[in-house]
Amino acid sequence: MKQFICTVCPRGCRLSVDENDGYKVYGNSCPRGEQYGKNEATNPVRTLTSTVKITGAALTRCPVRTDKPIPKGLLFEAMEELNRITVSSPLHRGDVIIADLLGTGANLIATRDL
Ligand code: SF4
Repeated sequence: MKQFICTVCPRGCRLSVDENDGYKVYGNSCPRGEQYGKNEATNPVRTLTSTVKITGAALTRCPVRTDKPIPKGLLFEAMEELNRITVSSPLHRGDVIIADLLGTGANLIATRDL
C-alpha cells in the first residue's frame, strides 16, 4: 500500500492505494480523490514553478512555471534546463520561454511582466 494526502481540496483525505489490487484507492471522500490517488501511484505529476536569469530588467530573475503539470521524475532535469538559460527583457506574463519542455508537451512560461 502506498499512502498519500489528497491535495485536490483543503479537506486533505488520507489515501491508501493498493498497487497489488489494480491501484484500488481507500480513504477518499469523493471520486476526485480516487483519481488523484491512482495518478500519484502510477504517474505523479507536478507544476514546476521557479525562476530563470533575465538581463535588461529591474530584477535579475524572472518567475516562471509550466503551463501544465509534468512528470515528477523530470523535475530535477527540468531545473537543470532552467539553470542553463538566460532570457532578455522585455518579457510579458504568459510568454513561452521554453516550448515543449523536455518533450513533456508543457511549455515553460513567464509569470510576470519584466
Ligand atoms: S478525496 Fe475528495 S474530499 Fe478528500 S481531499 Fe480529495 S478531493 Fe477533497
